[in-house]
Amino acid sequence: MGLLVQKFGGTSVADSNKILAAARRAIQAHQRGDQVLVVVSARGHTTDELIELAREINERPPAREMDMLLSTGEQITVALMAMAVEALGVPAISFTGAQIGLVTDSFHTKARIRNISTDRVKAALGQGRIVIVAGFQGVDEDYNITTLGRGGSDTTAVALAAVLGASACEIYTDVDGVYTTDPRIVPEARKIDRISYDEMLELASLGAGVMHSRSIEFAKKYGVPIHVRSSLSDAPGTWIVAEADARRLGVPVNGAALAREEARITILGVPDRPGAVHRIFHTISKAAIVVDMIVQNVAVDGKAEVSFTVAKDDLPETLSAAEEAAGAVDADGVRHDANVSKVSVVGLGMRTHTGVATTMFEALAAEGINIQMITTSEIKISVLIERTHAAAALRAVHKAFLLDEIHAEAPQPFRPSPAGERPLKLVPLVASDADADLPRGMEDLVIAGVDLDETQANVALFGVPDEPGHAARVFRAIGDAGVMVDMIVQNVSLDGLTDLSFTVPRESAERAAEAVRPFGGTVAVEPELAKLAVAGVGMRTHTGVATAMFRALADASINIKLINTSEVRVNVGADRANGQLALACLRKAFRLDEA
Ligand code: ADP
Ligand code: ASP
Ligand code: MG
Repeated sequence: MGLLVQKFGGTSVADSNKILAAARRAIQAHQRGDQVLVVVSARGHTTDELIELAREINERPPAREMDMLLSTGEQITVALMAMAVEALGVPAISFTGAQIGLVTDSFHTKARIRNISTDRVKAALGQGRIVIVAGFQGVDEDYNITTLGRGGSDTTAVALAAVLGASACEIYTDVDGVYTTDPRIVPEARKIDRISYDEMLELASLGAGVMHSRSIEFAKKYGVPIHVRSSLSDAPGTWIVAEADARRLGVPVNGAALAREEARITILGVPDRPGAVHRIFHTISKAAIVVDMIVQNVAVDGKAEVSFTVAKDDLPETLSAAEEAAGAVDADGVRHDANVSKVSVVGLGMRTHTGVATTMFEALAAEGINIQMITTSEIKISVLIERTHAAAALRAVHKAFLLDEIHAEAPQPFRPSPAGERPLKLVPLVASDADADLPRGMEDLVIAGVDLDETQANVALFGVPDEPGHAARVFRAIGDAGVMVDMIVQNVSLDGLTDLSFTVPRESAERAAEAVRPFGGTVAVEPELAKLAVAGVGMRTHTGVATAMFRALADASINIKLINTSEVRVNVGADRANGQLALACLRKAFRLDEA
């Protein structure tokens, strides 16, 4: 007998008819012989309304009381759903997060799951009941109710599917799958029939609101196939699966995402010495703020600008942490911009296609949209732009990669491999008790490895005019010179001029430098670069990873020259002479030699 987890989002349980319809779906699966566990969200806009209500009473409600309040939304739904299933003649039982022993840390409103005890759920399933669990909530070690962050019911569902060894986790929502981008913003978006965990992780963490990104971390770590589908139809939706099972269309980009409400913080004049960057991010990660694009380009006159983005809501808290950090490292000051959005493209095919960045930058240039910051990784490119251009930018990029044309053919039927055949790596811990920067529990990050690449050189172009089209022209010229670009970093412009740096194979560094010389500004080639990458799951939501990486390098007195982050990797550039040493201390920091 198999076990299926079904999750119903807010719109899918908005009223009594929808709750009854969801109950019927659960019963259908039950009648096919599966054990069925249902996870539900709060009905309709309940969570938003509760937040609003709290704000009417207290501008800064205590986080603990916020969780006490928000968890009631899901508690209403579980009870109604259990009543619905019973009304349709099947035994059911509802549980809150606390009742099933879903234990989290104590970061109220953004708690992480530590562990889940399965006994009570298994007993109820064993009695033939349909088990209904409240999503989004848990309890900390002192029995305080916690919540997992907005959209967190997805994470509850996938985490339960993981610990119970479910055959799949079905996510029922108001769209019939994962689209190439948000269909509400770009109506030409197409449904994707199968997508890999890594691509979905990037898309979700870069703004595709259809899935909570932490749920995909669970899915990848524990090998849970996810089926995102509509609660209104029986049409097949989108399978989120391992790379081997994902579909290859031979295109570089599979999807695009927009994070509208971003804010950018820049720490000016950070002394270019070991440890400075670590101090900054350590201060910020202590406040449990998720830092997004981190950009540091090559220092000028011993000082570098470090910029990063956070969700706009986190700006006030981040600014206080940033001011504190800037003081601690003797930086020149802090600036910010609360009116920015981030547009990203994602695809496994980027690993093998060239010119992807150029296509993206040209699409934005054609719309007259200026690029403020750029970060790249193996499978994504992100740019920061002014918020007023957000939708136009997303549409332009979506079109440039022909996302309205690919994924057009009919989906092929797909069945995930049975649960027993998947690796069930339960609670793979990396952090040790001594590692204060790294948290502990089921949602811990998993480090897959550290890589050293000594074949690259860095080319920096200082003082290019910060205007629409500059990045497109630069990377077109490099592409025309036949040079493959790996990492691209552009920090925000402070005086109308901007700096762009990028890495290329060492033997083509001079050719790249020649190609960009006509653009004015100063060109600097740093031939001796070591690129170090830490790869794993949960790299971005765990601010601790970048921090732990920066600290390990600082402890070995290795200076960081370049930073580039993504959901699945953190890349830094250092002197090539320090490459082997850096590799050894990162392996040690992440305990890769002990496994
Ligand atoms: P639920 O309440 O069921 O969890 P959400 O509102 O969290 O539903 O997620 C569904 C919404 O996600 C869709 O209505 C859609 O507007 C949005 N969305 C954003 N990006 C995408 C995407 N790439 N594919 C599909 N939907 C997306
Ligand atoms: N009800 C919560 C929210 O609206 C959790 C969820 O729906 O996933 O964010
Ligand atoms: Mg959701």
